[in-house]
Amino acid sequence: MIYTGGTIGMIENHETGALMPFDFSHISEQVPELKKFNCQISTISFEKPVDSSAIRPEFWVELAKIIEKNHDSYDGFVILHGTDTMSYTASALSFMLENQHKPVILTGSQLPIGTLRTDGKENLISAIEVAATRRNGRPIISEVCIYFEFKLYRGNRTTKLNAENFDAFASFNYPLLAEAGVHIKYNFEFIHSPKHREKLTIHTELDNNVAILKLFPGIKKEVVSAILNSEGLKAVVLETFGAGNAPTDAWFIECLQKSIEKGIIILNITQCKSGSVNMGRYETSVDLLRIGVISGYDITTEAAITKLMFLLGQKLSQNEIIKMLNTSISGEITISE
Ligand code: ASP
Repeated sequence: MIYTGGTIGMIENHETGALMPFDFSHISEQVPELKKFNCQISTISFEKPVDSSAIRPEFWVELAKIIEKNHDSYDGFVILHGTDTMSYTASALSFMLENQHKPVILTGSQLPIGTLRTDGKENLISAIEVAATRRNGRPIISEVCIYFEFKLYRGNRTTKLNAENFDAFASFNYPLLAEAGVHIKYNFEFIHSPKHREKLTIHTELDNNVAILKLFPGIKKEVVSAILNSEGLKAVVLETFGAGNAPTDAWFIECLQKSIEKGIIILNITQCKSGSVNMGRYETSVDLLRIGVISGYDITTEAAITKLMFLLGQKLSQNEIIKMLNTSISGEITISE
């Protein structure tokens, strides 16, 4: 169990009333049930637990290294993490851990674990159960997941959707991997099962020279060009409308085209929560296709931005990056045959 921070371990600051991360002992004291597990649980805590809004790529590297170091000694890993950026961390790890064959389950809560109505206990206990479960001598799960409010999701398909409800996450473009009721029911057909058992490799080079450009009706040229001309920029997630559509104004297409000519990668993803980009279907995306904008298919924003950071960090050629953007690395996109 790796504790990074988040509401699950927070307590109230007496002076301001605001919630702040606390050290790990707070959690273990609050969940005596952990002793009842029929498995051995070791814990590692980040030296300075954080609210997940403060998470940076360096934290992902630290997490990947902890998992690599302990991968052969444990049946599974549970990462306690704030919900705000949990989907980004899950997505990043899904790219950084190659040949993972143990479960890595992220969870957290909307109410601190010390509060009476906390959702943290169920989340934590079931996440441990999932991480420890084996079938025919092998872990059922061998991918990065989020367990939250009775549901197990493929991590890189999730989005935080609700800041209030316990049911905080959704995976619009991929089915649930499991649901917890009286029993935890796994949807085996959607769970990744590794073909070979090669050694885990971690990729710790991430390049954050990336940006997200979200379109809206009336967006100004100054805004678009300020983003596209930011220093060092190497790739942009372009959040378009519907099936990948954008304004057809000449200035807009020219701005994008100039960036692409400079070698900047533009990945087209939809602002819709569900569904996929389909460039060329409407006239409003024909130009994007023509100038070399890449389709993001049905990827989430969280997975798109972390996939770009990961690919740019691998020092690949532009063509190789484009090829990987059209490939599912760890189940983050649906590519129809
Ligand atoms: N702000 C908190 C965090 O993401 C919210 C949570 O944990 O649910 O760390």
